[in-house]
This record gives sequence, structure tokens and C-alpha cells, in this order.
Amino acid sequence: MSGNESRLKAIYEITKATPFEASMTEPLSKIWASDVFGLEQMEESLSKSAYKAMKKTVQTGEALDPATADIVAAAMKDWAMSKGAKFFSHIFYPMTNTTAEKHDGFIITNSDGGSITEFTGGLLIKGEPDGSSFPNGSLRLTNAARGYTAWDPTSPAYIMHTANGAVLTIPSVFISWTGEALDKKIPLLRSNSAMNNAAQRVLSLMGEAEIATLHSSCGAEQEYFLVDEAFANARPDLLLTGRTLFGAASPKGQQFDDHYFGAIPERVQVFMQDFEDKLYKLGIPAKTHHNEVAPGQFEIAPYFEAANVAADHQQLLMTMMKNTAKSHGFLCLLHEKPFAGVNGSGKHVNWSVGNSTQGNLLDPGNTPNENLNFLVFCGAVIRGVHKFGPLLRAVIASAANDHRLGANEAPPAILSVYLGDQLEKVFDDIKTGALHVPKDGGEMDLGLSQILSFKRDPGDRNRTSPFAFTGNRFEFRAVGSSQSVSGPLVAMNTMLADSLDWIANKLKVELDDGAATPAAVFTVLKEIMESHGNVVFGGDGYSSEWHEMAVKERGLKNIPTTADALPAFKSPEVIELFTRTGVLTPPELESRFEVYAEQYVLTIELEANLVVEMATTMIYPAAVSYLTSLGPLSAKLKPSPAEAVTDAANAMMASVEQLSAALAKEDFASIEDHMNFLAHDVRGLMEDVRTAADTLETLVDDSVWPLPKYREMLFIK
Ligand code: ADP
Ligand code: MG
Repeated sequence: MSGNESRLKAIYEITKATPFEASMTEPLSKIWASDVFGLEQMEESLSKSAYKAMKKTVQTGEALDPATADIVAAAMKDWAMSKGAKFFSHIFYPMTNTTAEKHDGFIITNSDGGSITEFTGGLLIKGEPDGSSFPNGSLRLTNAARGYTAWDPTSPAYIMHTANGAVLTIPSVFISWTGEALDKKIPLLRSNSAMNNAAQRVLSLMGEAEIATLHSSCGAEQEYFLVDEAFANARPDLLLTGRTLFGAASPKGQQFDDHYFGAIPERVQVFMQDFEDKLYKLGIPAKTHHNEVAPGQFEIAPYFEAANVAADHQQLLMTMMKNTAKSHGFLCLLHEKPFAGVNGSGKHVNWSVGNSTQGNLLDPGNTPNENLNFLVFCGAVIRGVHKFGPLLRAVIASAANDHRLGANEAPPAILSVYLGDQLEKVFDDIKTGALHVPKDGGEMDLGLSQILSFKRDPGDRNRTSPFAFTGNRFEFRAVGSSQSVSGPLVAMNTMLADSLDWIANKLKVELDDGAATPAAVFTVLKEIMESHGNVVFGGDGYSSEWHEMAVKERGLKNIPTTADALPAFKSPEVIELFTRTGVLTPPELESRFEVYAEQYVLTIELEANLVVEMATTMIYPAAVSYLTSLGPLSAKLKPSPAEAVTDAANAMMASVEQLSAALAKEDFASIEDHMNFLAHDVRGLMEDVRTAADTLETLVDDSVWPLPKYREMLFIK
């Protein structure tokens, strides 16, 4: 089938598309977490003492003894086999943002050749995938490249149903033989415990008597696009890179704003229902879904959970979303910028920290005491974002997210904090001394929960801020839609640990000096605002004035590309931060830089090679065939179609030649050099090819154009 035939066939097929029959789904109470081996199942199937030990491990992260692991393994196997599972798998999260798994059977044979099943604590605790094919940066050099997986008992195991049967899936960490983290889970667990340790110190200095283990929480809002598979199949760029490398703007785009919160197309509704039921069975609390700003774009936001579980659930959600979309005839695009000129997709990471005794520390609360705790934690976040802005930028850096950040549709590539007018005023007043408590002064009711209650009204949100306080949490808005939430959570937890430690040291001095707690807190917060208050910004983050002011007056960094952002992982401040808090060792950090840099290089090279190929073998031939089809009469037409098409085709192929030459370059002094070359030279050349190709799209006869057009793909029928 020639190129244009597959496009025309796709258009024809789409006109006939009907929704899958919407099935009556089962009640939530029946399906909720039905495929999860959670505490409830454990209570039913474990002895009292084993259950107690497991519960403690889940709640505090304390290690589990081998005998209990054996008991848990046996119960887990029986439960899984009763659900039809014959295999088990340790699932883990390599540094590449992906999810990886290897399946093993429960089966072993006995001496008579009969089959029995076996699943010991040892097998549950440790798996040995052949990890050598996962990029592990410089850690590859320091060991035999093999890694092993180890069960994370704090994230529940579950049954994954696929066409290939049911598999008991065990959330795991991925670690090298020499004990180095090769994944995204280990640093998340470590960062949580660093945050907990520092928070314990602060809270006990604040006079709290009973302090339960603190956890960070995460609620991620996932944006995505759906495209009809028939169209996607005719677009090699969508299939191989997840985004359109070519495509002229559709006459109708998002200018009418009619998609946002509009009626969800019926075929999409049926997909969502099917998808959400699958999530419920896996214990993932899908809570809201709606259309997004761009046509064909949607959002799903599960209810927030403990960060470690939320991160596992996020990965699972992305996998389930892609698979379920397929069975409904869609390609689900998680790419940050699938269509030029149309809003891209992000993943807002809502983050807070708390425990069962003090509650959510980022909630202002109703009592003077809660107000004070809140101010301390909020001040700690402000300090962290200011000190480690470049780190926060680095953890959201990717070739794909570079299309969003700073492009006036997503937060700018400058890290600032939005507090909202009233909270900003509270911190301003603390800084200037307008709000203070006497040094020996007692309680002071700031009434924060009253003055901040308006925050719950979404109308007030500043959508142009990358990092915003939203009433009882911070929302990191610059995270990309395809990214794992772990990197951002690790950075936030670790910067918070650092700030809380610093605060604890300062508080101690003040308190030892005889200051009352509120006065001590105000002294410390004043110092924080004096040194770090520059990061607080409530205005329009898209404006050019801010871009100038942020850098010139506030001393903040504008870090436009991944090539500029990733080196932050190698900066002395970041190495010191991660080493001191015990979250990542210098080699672990270095390996992360290498893996992310390599991913960047591979992504842009793949895209650039595909630009060359598609321009040469699809777009150029379409232009030529159109030119050939023009009869002698065309010479008399004004403007001359032949001339315009010839000019654009020549311009495109001239840029293709330059791009090919650039891709042949090999002599780079370092990977930083290579990244810079791709970011600043290759990307520009890809744009040049595209500009000419998109012009051709507007000139060449529609019936010979090979690639499905934006106007066809963006509006779901
Ligand atoms: P909006 O689009 O208005 O920001 P959504 O309801 O789409 O709000 O998403 C908000 C997300 O924030 C949800 O995942 C929600 O569960 C989560 N969230 C709410 N409170 C907290 C909290 N204290 N900590 C972390 N996440 C939270
Ligand atoms: Mg939302």
C-alpha cells in the first residue's frame, strides 16, 4: 500500500468507528483492590504474629525477618494461584523511566516427574534478572553489570492480567552486586527516610511529644493524548518517537477552548471506564478524569497515596493506559509534545509530607501550634527550591520535556515558588519584621487556615508557576507526562531533608538561648526569607519581564535545555546534598547523569534520523509526484504551483543534507559537548527541515499527501 493509500484508508476506517460496547461494570466494592495482596488479604491468610511483623514493615519500613518472609511467600503464592497465576515476576524501575520485569514459574518438578509448586521467602525476597541490558551508567564499569531485584514489602504485590495469563507481580528494587542503586525506587525510599529523620528532629524541637514516622505523599495528574490507531499506523514518527516530527497546523486547533471540560467523546468515555475499572482492581484510586486544553488531550488524576506506592502506581497506570487504549483502537501518547502548536502534556506532581500524629505538615491547620509547624515546613520548602532549583530542573529534564518548558504553555524553565497573595504576605511580613512574636512570647494565633482557605478555590491558582502551593500541598507543575514521578519526589524529599536539618540546627541554638518556640521559629524563618525569599514569585511566569527579572534581579537560573540542565547532577552542591543525606553516593549520582545524558543523545539522534528518512522517502516523493502530475497548463497559473512546490522541496532537501552531515559528526570531547551540539545545532536543523516540509503540506495535492494531517488526527470521532 502506498503512503497516501494508507492515509486515505485510515480516514475511511475512522468514519466507521463505533465505541466498544459500554459494558455494565461491577460495583466498586466488588472490584476495589481485588487483585492486590494487601494488608487485608494478609490479615486473612497470615498468622497473627506474621501479620503483625508485615504490618510494621509496611508502616515503618523496618526489615522483615527471613522466617516471616517464608510465611508471607507461601500465603502470597496460594492467593496468586487461586487467582489463576502460574508465574511470578519481580517488577522494577530502571533509570530509563521504564518498567521492567522477568517472569518465573512457580513450577518445579519432583523426582517422579510430577509438578509441584514452590515459592519460598528467598525467592520472594530476591530475584536475578539478567540486568546487563539495562543502562547503568558508570556503574557498568565497576561491577559485572549484573543486578538483582529485591522485594519492596512496603508496596503491595498484585496480579497482572495479560493475554498471556495472570502473573503475581512483586514490586522490587534493582540493585548491583556491589549494592549500588540501579533504579528509581531505592533513592525514593532513602529520600523518604532522610526526610523523616530530619523532620523528627524539627518536630521534637518544636515540642511535639509523640511523632510517628513521616511519609511523603504524591498525587499525580497525568495528561495524555489519544490518537486513532489507524492514523498512528500511517505515521512512523508517532510509532517510533511518540511525537509528530512533521505536520502543518490544523485550521481548527485549540483556539476555541471548546475541548477543556467539554463532553468527552463517547469512544473515549468507554475507554476510560474500562481503564479505570482495571485500575480499581489493582487498588489504584482513579479519582478525576476530564478533557484537557488541546483537542484529543485528556487527564486522569488518582487520589494521592504514600509516595513510594504512588510512584509504583504511576508506572503501572502508564502501562495500563497504553495497553487499554490499544484494545480500544487508540494509540495513547504520553509524550510531552506530540503535536507542535498544540498544548503539550505534563504531569503535575502534588506533594506533601505528614504522619499519623501531626497530620499533613503542609496543611496550615486550625491551632496556633499547627500554624507554626506549617510555617516551618513551608519555609523549608522555599529554602529548598531556592538552593536546589537547578537540581529540580535537572530531574525533569528530557528531550521531550524541553519542548514544553519555557514555551508559554507550561511553566518556564526558571524554578520559582508561588505561595498565593496571602501566604506570600505572611512570609513577607516575617521577613520585614512586620509580623513577629516577642522573644519570650507565648502562643500567637495566625489564623492561617482561615486566611488560606480560599486556596481551595481553583480559580486562584497561578498556572504559570512551576512550583505552587495549593492549600495543603505543593504542586510541581513542570514534570513531564512520560516521566517517572520518582526523580521529582526524590529531589523534593531530599531538599526538604536538607532544609529541615538546617532549621533544626538553628532552632536548637535559639531554644538553648532561652527563646520561646514561636520566637525561635520566627527568627529562623526571617533568616530563610532574607536568604531565599527571592525564589517566591506570584506574577506571570510566562512574561518576558519575569524572565529578565528572575535572572538579573533575583539571581535565579533560566535553564532552557536538557543539555544545560543535566550537569547539575555533577555539581558539588548536589553531590554534597545527596552524600550527606545518604540518598545517593557520588558514583550512583554520576551513573544517573550518564544514563540521562545517553537517553537524551539517543532520543534526538533517533528523531533526527527519522526526520531525514521521512523527508527523503515520504515527503519529497509526494512533492515530486504532485509536480509530475501537473500538466502543461500549470505553467500559465498564477501563482505557479510548480514554482512554490519546487522551492519548498529544494529548501527541505538542502536542510536534510545539512542535517545528515551534522549527524555524521562523531568527534565529541565529552557527552556534555555532544548534548550541546544536539540541543543547539541538530534541533535547529530538524526544525528547518520541518518548516519546509510543513509548507509542502499546504501546497501539495491533498490526495497524494502520505501522512495523516493534524486536522484529521486531533479530533476524535
Ligand atoms: P487540580 O487539577 O485542581 O490541581 P486534581 O483534583 O486534578 O486537582 O488533582 C489534584 C491531585 O492532588 C490529586 O491527585 C489529589 O489526590 C492530590 N492531593 C490532594 N491533597 C494532597 C496532599 N495533601 N498531598 C499530595 N497530594 C494531594
Ligand atoms: Mg487537574
